Amino acid sequence: KFILGIESSCDDTSAAVISNTKILANVTANQDIHREFGGVVPELASRAHQQNIVPVVDAALKKSGISSNQLSAIAFTSGPGLMGSLLVGTSFAKSMAMALNIPLIEVNHMQAHILAHFIENEGMETPPFPFLCLTVSGGHTQIVKVNDHFEYVLLGETIDDAAGEAFDKAAKIMGLPYPGGPLIDKYAQLGDSSKFSFNKPRMDEYNFSFSGLKTSILYYLQKEVKTNPNFVEENLNDLCASIQRTIMEILFDKLEKASADTGIKHIAIAGGVSANSALRKGLKERENILGWKPYIPSFEFCTDNGAMIAVSGYFKFLKQNFSEIDVLAQARKKLNAE
Ligand code: ATP
Ligand code: FE
Repeated sequence: KFILGIESSCDDTSAAVISNTKILANVTANQDIHREFGGVVPELASRAHQQNIVPVVDAALKKSGISSNQLSAIAFTSGPGLMGSLLVGTSFAKSMAMALNIPLIEVNHMQAHILAHFIENEGMETPPFPFLCLTVSGGHTQIVKVNDHFEYVLLGETIDDAAGEAFDKAAKIMGLPYPGGPLIDKYAQLGDSSKFSFNKPRMDEYNFSFSGLKTSILYYLQKEVKTNPNFVEENLNDLCASIQRTIMEILFDKLEKASADTGIKHIAIAGGVSANSALRKGLKERENILGWKPYIPSFEFCTDNGAMIAVSGYFKFLKQNFSEIDVLAQARKKLNAE
């Protein structure tokens, strides 16, 4: 089966062509326009998707060597995400499926981040069911028990900011451009993670909270900058390392609890923050300490990508789970929704 997957939920326009679970092409256009605004501007994002979608899909098809009339179905992200962004991919996918007279398959973006683990890829192992997945992205932080490709139990999630947001907001406070997560990761590698300490939340069960950390960083830096205006520049590496350590402690604390309580040691990570080097390293370390079997996606499948949408579409195709042509994009969508 050849499936085209289209992703446009936030600020990346991405298209992929797969043959069953094997990637033939995965093409992404990032939007640099948001850098100067310190975050994604929804109106600008949808305009950029509109500009990018035709060339990106064309490039993916060309690279795959598959012509559009060989496609078996078109999968697209129907939510959650920014409505203006989702609408571009949704409308495009509908028109193309209609023109080619092939099935249309809506994909839940948060399921797709998890299902990225089923992309056939050298050096990436597929987790056996049931496994736990820590999904950490720009908009979500969830611990999910994955019983099957489409059966999820949401054990816990953030009650305020997402982990990626915590990285990005902390970076913004320090004057770094958006998205700050990868920059904090980079500077942290040169810093001392025990230099500064910030507040950690006390949360019930498997839930997370990151807004207190952001406030703690803001107040601390405001105080220090009063006596030394160059405080952030002079301590950037140590600040990044300390902030990253704190976020990792918050994440691993809950993930360890979930693993201990469920007895599940097959542990996957997904979403943009799963590109973080400390998270990847921390997971590998727990292989020896806790007997975990870690599943870590390749970098290109951590942040938003068409491949994860295409592979999710493939599993829905196997179940003949197709969407009607009047299917709607949904900005808010629960993990277990179609
Ligand atoms: P969602 O999937 O919740 O709708 P999204 O699609 O915008 O949100 P992703 O593309 O999955 O999110 O991830 C983007 C986030 O990942 C950003 O917050 C970014 O800062 C973060 N991120 C990417 N690389 C790293 C890294 N190396 N370290 C920390 N954070 C990172
Ligand atoms: Fe995402």
